[in-house]
Amino acid sequence: MPLNVWAENPSALEATVWRADTVRLLPTPEQVELLLRLAKATRALINMEHARRRQLYERTGEIDTGIKHAYWSQDYAQLKELLGSKNFDEALCLVAESWRSFKELLELKEQGRLPAWLDPKPPKRLKSLIIAVKHDNYRLLEDEKAIWLGYYNVKLKFKGDLRWWRERLQQGRLVITYDDVKGAWYAHIASEVELKRDMRAPLKCGIDLGRERLAAAVTESGVALLYRGTVLKSEYHFLKMEVSELDKRARFADFDVQVWLEKRKWLFRRYRVRKRELIKNMAAHLARELYTLGVTEIYIGYPRDIAHNKPTEGNNAWPYWQTIKEIARAAENLGIAVYLVPEESTSRVCARHGCEVVREPRGLVRCPYGHVMHADLNAAMNILKRAGGRVPERVKVLSFTPTPEGVIERRKKRRGKPDSPAQRAG
Ligand SMILES: [Zn+2]
Repeated sequence: MPLNVWAENPSALEATVWRADTVRLLPTPEQVELLLRLAKATRALINMEHARRRQLYERTGEIDTGIKHAYWSQDYAQLKELLGSKNFDEALCLVAESWRSFKELLELKEQGRLPAWLDPKPPKRLKSLIIAVKHDNYRLLEDEKAIWLGYYNVKLKFKGDLRWWRERLQQGRLVITYDDVKGAWYAHIASEVELKRDMRAPLKCGIDLGRERLAAAVTESGVALLYRGTVLKSEYHFLKMEVSELDKRARFADFDVQVWLEKRKWLFRRYRVRKRELIKNMAAHLARELYTLGVTEIYIGYPRDIAHNKPTEGNNAWPYWQTIKEIARAAENLGIAVYLVPEESTSRVCARHGCEVVREPRGLVRCPYGHVMHADLNAAMNILKRAGGRVPERVKVLSFTPTPEGVIERRKKRRGKPDSPAQRAG
């Protein structure tokens, strides 16, 4: 199953995609008031529409992916007035898009093209604050580092760099969000850009996703990259600990339920934000390393340890789908095609000899031919094999630890060949 534009068009050397720059807004106190008013109105609109579509879906099974209903309905007249018809329209587009992607996932599921654990759910109520601005209703004033919002006639200062916007073929939607973990407003500026890929000799890479190791990648040229899950795990333990501390205090008589609930939600949101950053960092790092190694095609296996789990544990159990999507996108930026491949039994069979392996402690597997391997590397090599790739004789292993702040390289005392590309890539 193709996961990005290069996988969909294997012979293409150019592709047009949408990308967004994110910058931090620096609103004045009066501007904050305006942003809050607009964001609350947008959220109300989005949630009214989600609720209506969810009812329709539950009652009839029909999925509304249009924007007409709200546009003509009188119930929305006040919100339309406040937001302006263009931006009102744009918020409805956001709703329509999330239902469209739900519909697409459902169709893929029916065709049996989704991993078993991926269970599409209808879009949820929006909890966060958001403002949508149509592409022709704002101007980016690069020299002043400001964004001018047409309908509201307000100029918002920002800080941060613009990468995609400079290369834009056309300007897209502006989305303003409030991040209550960081207590800051952000602007996400969409641009349509052209990506290019260079003609290179084909080189495949297999990736296995797991818990102990978030990702294990093996290239045909014999380099393995391991991304350890230790920091993500400890972030999760930290969350559990803080939540239980908070709940303990809630037993006292003088506690405030509202404050307690808010604080609790905030802890979960902070965890999700940090998890997202960690995964993004890993995906970007992995894609860059593989690009440097000359990889042109990535094959990701369906995560094996939840493949046969109950669907209720779904995609929230561990961020596999999020990880897959981030890798596909980061690789797309560098011209690498990404595919999803089925992964049954990739952990049970030796990638070199095809015979059944025995699980050993500490994530190792033993082959009856007498050699011992990392279970994840063996799985990644099996994925590589399944994708028609060549399984390397020997692998050189590089270990990394992704964190929300960046990726840490674990230096081994053993010295590798100083001029091998893998060494220089680090
Ligand atoms: Zn073997």
